[in-house]
Amino acid sequence: MFKNHGRRVLFLLASVWTGALFTALPARDAKAFVLVSKTPRRLDASPSSPTVTFKWNETTPSIKDKDKLFDGANKDLDDVEYMALMLQLAMDQWNDVHGSYLRLAFERDPTVVTDTEDRIHAISVSSKVGTTSAAFAQFNYQIDGNETNTIADCDIYLSDSSVSARNMVTTLVHELGHCIGLGHNHTNYQSIMGYSRSGNSYKPGADDKAGVSWLYPDPAVSDEAPAELVACGVVPGGSGENPRGMNVVIWSMLALPLLVALATVMTKGVFSSRASARGRT
Ligand SMILES: [Zn+2]
Repeated sequence: MFKNHGRRVLFLLASVWTGALFTALPARDAKAFVLVSKTPRRLDASPSSPTVTFKWNETTPSIKDKDKLFDGANKDLDDVEYMALMLQLAMDQWNDVHGSYLRLAFERDPTVVTDTEDRIHAISVSSKVGTTSAAFAQFNYQIDGNETNTIADCDIYLSDSSVSARNMVTTLVHELGHCIGLGHNHTNYQSIMGYSRSGNSYKPGADDKAGVSWLYPDPAVSDEAPAELVACGVVPGGSGENPRGMNVVIWSMLALPLLVALATVMTKGVFSSRASARGRT
């Protein structure tokens, strides 16, 4: 009688933990990034052909504070050469995301124009941007007149207003994020895709990285354990840069009693069924 009661309590406990775990799992799995459109849309790339090339027509606004980037190493370059380095730096931010196969590249082409019909991803200074914003990205999802889930053309228009080097890189990373398929993320202060970002880092946040690796999952790493779990095992409590690491700690803590309870239930179950088979109860 008492044994049975104990088993019931343990079973109940296990059920509660399991329930809690599965109730919480969708929250953890919920996309903490925002897509540019309701339907996921992606650049035309694949793991076997991962590179998407943008064409830059070598236009640039005047760049200030060149000594505040690259540790000041390139501060004497002219604006066009400096802009080329900033474009590469901005693309590297998306190319370095573990778990994403996408690779962005650019070519210089003075003849390229921002034309969302030509299926050339173009980057150009444009008077269309106006003075109130730094840049915008314009998409075309249509191929041969039909709406598709492919970002067939994404052009980045840059303001011709003078801008600091650091702000320009941040702007480029943000606009490239749109072209990749990410929308504005206003709920995460670490997100490069949000307006409410804290700090002055031009690096994508954990949610931005989750977004790009969700849109372009690298099959070579999909069999690995999620990076956050690995990081979490090394640095319990998360690093602050990856707030979801904390979730893993919390849920690991919840899962532990569940495992203990389950193990106890199972051991007792086995023991008592053996016992009853021997007629001891
Ligand atoms: Zn934006």
